[in-house]
Amino acid sequence: TFLTFEGIDGSGKSTQARLLADHLRREGRDVILTREPGGSAGAEEIRNLVLQGDPDRWSAETEILLFTAARRDHLERTIEPALAAGKVVICDRFADSTRMYQGMSRGDLRSLVDQLHNLMIGREPDLTLLIDMDPETGLSRAKGRQGAEERFEDFGVDLQLQMRAGFLALADEFQDRFRVVNGNRDMDSVAQDVTDIVMTSLR
Ligand code: C5P
Repeated sequence: TFLTFEGIDGSGKSTQARLLADHLRREGRDVILTREPGGSAGAEEIRNLVLQGDPDRWSAETEILLFTAARRDHLERTIEPALAAGKVVICDRFADSTRMYQGMSRGDLRSLVDQLHNLMIGREPDLTLLIDMDPETGLSRAKGRQGAEERFEDFGVDLQLQMRAGFLALADEFQDRFRVVNGNRDMDSVAQDVTDIVMTSLR
């Protein structure tokens, strides 16, 4: 089973992914917790190329190629082998993040993102949990994280608002696999909803 978490920066999706992994392991399931960009040795190297240093180093199109290359490596080396072994794979961000960030933030490049996805990835999660979150709260949480400051320089509230709306539209577009969880609550309440949704779908 392939589960993904999506949401804007600071939505708490990484925390929820970890809590879900802990819960499923306690239930005796074999779980792999992974993340994007990254999740395999090569993809982590690409992550550093993309997320560190000068944000204008890569054109928008090259950035899409790099994210797709990272995802392909992650899929080949980490995700597919784990799924083939019958494990539950929980991934913090996947192709939906690229549909949003690379597809929207530097112009309307969604169709390029989709074409490359169809060509090189061609796999969707069984279930995607969108942790929906008020951008003001998300941004202040994200900025509160140590060392995160530089990364969010260009990520003002306007872009976060656009991303939130974009994620909700994506949830509508892929209704069969998306579930929206209200992230504007305490961690345990959100985790309870996530667990309920996942246990229903694993049954
Ligand atoms: O989810 P995480 O905090 O690890 O993401 C790291 C940064 O990379 C965030 O600022 C996120 O907005 C950005 N990102 C991106 N495109 C993606 C995935 C993440 O710009 N496809």
